[in-house]
Amino acid sequence: MVLAQLGGRISGAIRQMSNATVIDKKVLNDCLNEITHALLQADVQFSIVSDLHTNIKRIVDFDALAAGHDKRKIISKAIFNELCRILNPGKKPPFTPKRGKTSVVMFVGLQGSGKTTTCAKYAHFHRSKGWKPALVCADTFRAGAFDQLKQNAVKAKIPFCGSYTESDPVTIAAQGVERFKKENSDLIIVDTSGRHRQEAALFEEMRQLAEATKPDLVVFVMDGSIGQAAFDQAEAFKQSIDVGAVIVTKLDGHAKGGGALSAVAATKSPVLFIGTGEHVHEFQVFDAEPFVKRLLGMGADLSGFMDNIHQAVSSMDQVQKPPELLSESGNFTLRNMYEQFQLMLNMGPIGHAIPGFDQELMMPKGGSGKMKRYMIMMDSMTKKELDSPNGSLMNNESRILRVAKGSGHSIEAVKEMLEAYKRQAKIWSKTLKKGSKNNKMMNVEQMSKVIPDEML
Ligand code: GDP
Repeated sequence: MVLAQLGGRISGAIRQMSNATVIDKKVLNDCLNEITHALLQADVQFSIVSDLHTNIKRIVDFDALAAGHDKRKIISKAIFNELCRILNPGKKPPFTPKRGKTSVVMFVGLQGSGKTTTCAKYAHFHRSKGWKPALVCADTFRAGAFDQLKQNAVKAKIPFCGSYTESDPVTIAAQGVERFKKENSDLIIVDTSGRHRQEAALFEEMRQLAEATKPDLVVFVMDGSIGQAAFDQAEAFKQSIDVGAVIVTKLDGHAKGGGALSAVAATKSPVLFIGTGEHVHEFQVFDAEPFVKRLLGMGADLSGFMDNIHQAVSSMDQVQKPPELLSESGNFTLRNMYEQFQLMLNMGPIGHAIPGFDQELMMPKGGSGKMKRYMIMMDSMTKKELDSPNGSLMNNESRILRVAKGSGHSIEAVKEMLEAYKRQAKIWSKTLKKGSKNNKMMNVEQMSKVIPDEML
């Protein structure tokens, strides 16, 4: 499946970014370049891809993010949100049929787009949910349309009507709708004619059919293989008839499916369903967020990957929980120092909460303070280095050099940070010794004392 390949490429790019030891601008750029190429190859409009790129770079502002945030999660969430955004038209259909109340839904579209197949799928979908759908074939233009609809309807045991003799689609549609209203059908589906091209005769016939059947909802069926050309086609139909929603078909085998979906969203038309095969059950409700989750979970060996995405998405919406126990063993590691900074920076206006603690000290105007710079350096350390007792693994010139390069700081600056860590670890162990047995949990006031002024 081609959409799966697109999803696989995007999730592969996110995974590669996540696996990098250091998340810096280059890693983000590589990840975004891969995603951009994948989207352009799926025929997503250049301007949409370019907006996505710009928005993610704006959200993932490395300078502003230095406050100890989890960059992997922020980047993953930004990508996820942007993908949802480009598929979300920001509009709901003007009408949603209700079970038990009669509604008329008229399907329009070009010939070959999959209209007749989709009418049957739509009827089948609702029937399986307890509705009483009925099918009206008002396609008198295409020879065989009625037979096709009849075949599908019989298979799915759905009442249908049409005519081999009547050539006026308006008469057939009006009679069919009247009949099924009398029979208390709650979803009357009208299949209309298509043409090979958008032409005046097609639009005129659609308008007459709409006048005769007074549909509650007009659904435009579009072939997803046309990619970004979907934008012009959707606009043309919208201008001629009051299109309330779109169904995009043939997303099972075409390289341009992603382009079609984003192009339809750009016209602010809600996509109700997508067609993913010729069979009646190859039909899915479309909703941007679950669709993107599925897309990213498809086509790749992603054990655990989607969990991370879900976690990233939900956890970023929650207030970050402060670490309760900064040092379980009493050994103050570099990671403890990182978490301590993180907590301090996340406190917000703690100057109000702690008498005498000057917020300006922590966040000096015009600069981010040493704490933030030190966190950037620690971002470039491996898990083992962060957790090594007394920072012992960092007593090594080549590791210091690697962290300096990775964080964009000088070797001297990294050494200075390690010295500051040692000083702080000393103060930390003294504070613990002074405290009661259970006092390994530090409160904010204690913490502010443990962080030396020179670091603020
Ligand atoms: P209409 O002229 O718009 O009524 O189009 P049809 O319903 O006759 O469909 C045209 C062709 O597209 C048929 O061969 C269908 O089986 C096929 N088709 C429709 N929907 C899909 C879909 O979602 N995926 C695939 N692969 N084929 C589809």
